[in-house]
Amino acid sequence: MKVLIVNCGSSSLKYQIINSDTEQVEAKGLCERIGIDGRLVYQPAGGEKEITEAAMPTHSEAIRMVLDALVNPKTGVLKSLDEVEAIGHRVLHGGARLTDSALVNEDVMAAIEEAVDLGPLHNPANLMGIRACQKLMPGKPNVVVMDTSFGMTLPAKAYRYAIPTEYYEKYHIRRYGFHGTSHSFVSKETIKYLHLDPDNSRVIVAHLGNGASITAVRNSKCVDTSMGVTPLEGLIMGTRSGDLDPAILEYICNHEHITISEMNTILNKKSGVMALSNNLSSDFRDLEEAMNNGNEAAGLAVEAFSYRVAKYIGAYTAAMNGVDAITFTGGIGENAGIVREKVLSYLGYLGIRIDREANKKRGETFVLSTDDSKVKVIVLPTNEELAICRETVRLVKAE
Ligand code: ADP
Repeated sequence: MKVLIVNCGSSSLKYQIINSDTEQVEAKGLCERIGIDGRLVYQPAGGEKEITEAAMPTHSEAIRMVLDALVNPKTGVLKSLDEVEAIGHRVLHGGARLTDSALVNEDVMAAIEEAVDLGPLHNPANLMGIRACQKLMPGKPNVVVMDTSFGMTLPAKAYRYAIPTEYYEKYHIRRYGFHGTSHSFVSKETIKYLHLDPDNSRVIVAHLGNGASITAVRNSKCVDTSMGVTPLEGLIMGTRSGDLDPAILEYICNHEHITISEMNTILNKKSGVMALSNNLSSDFRDLEEAMNNGNEAAGLAVEAFSYRVAKYIGAYTAAMNGVDAITFTGGIGENAGIVREKVLSYLGYLGIRIDREANKKRGETFVLSTDDSKVKVIVLPTNEELAICRETVRLVKAE
């Protein structure tokens, strides 16, 4: 079955065509700068990357351009759109109403709409992506795969915030957790790769990308996760602050005469390693280069980022009364050896030893710890698209 995978961000859209029988990617790419100007990147398997600049006022135009590229007589991988049998969409938030993957119907759309408050950047884009596919490929099943699903197994002691119960009851303010597709995929693959027992194992997955989060996975189920009711909580990220003292909000709003919404934007878009590096960059390639050239702010950003990851690993080791394996994934986890080394330098007390030669590798699955390390540490590239494809096929076949 050929499945189109669609992952809409606020101003971007990543896509892949996957053949679910072979699990091979037949074409992939992304649309960038949606709502600004517009750029389509398209790459058929084994072929050259094509870049097309074209106006994309919304995600609808972006989807249309992707479909046109897929059926382009010269470089397209499909003869017609009829070949696409299902579409799988990554969706950020469905609130308390929609927490599991589902075939799209009116109820599902209403739940995503209702959760726009909780995912103001992603949910409207997700809805637009689904509507565009419904319009351009009528009659094809659309499946939503929720970023929050994996966090639904958290016990109450981990998901409840210590604020008045009425907010939980009225607004379902609780820890949801995000990057669920990635954490679920990577924890399962870790268990397989290291031959751990799925029903008796303790794994910590550090998904370190532009957005970064970490989960504690006990017996294949998520028991704690660093992101909260929104993806702002937890680790320091590219431009997001992660954890902070909530009193900071009122203090800065009062002194700077800005609204709470403006403050929220600052915490999401102008904070994180970008802020710590004095607005040098949110990209670890730039930060590492600047740090090596003696830029102290860039050095602080990398140090603070790694320190926060290490603190969470300590906390989650306590939460599970030990840890059998730690896995690094995401753009930074897979590539930035400097971050992995710094994080692990805090974990000697767990008997963890890093193999410095192995740490030079990137973008592949490998063991990062030495043979005598008491905890196995690995790097394992995430593959959210494949996980979404598997889930889409499961739901479509169950219909
Ligand atoms: P997201 O999916 O959240 O947008 P990714 O998981 O793709 O993010 O991670 C992107 C980040 O990974 C980049 O911003 C950069 O910081 C980091 N990254 C990617 N490649 C490298 C590399 N070779 N060395 C260091 N960091 C890298």
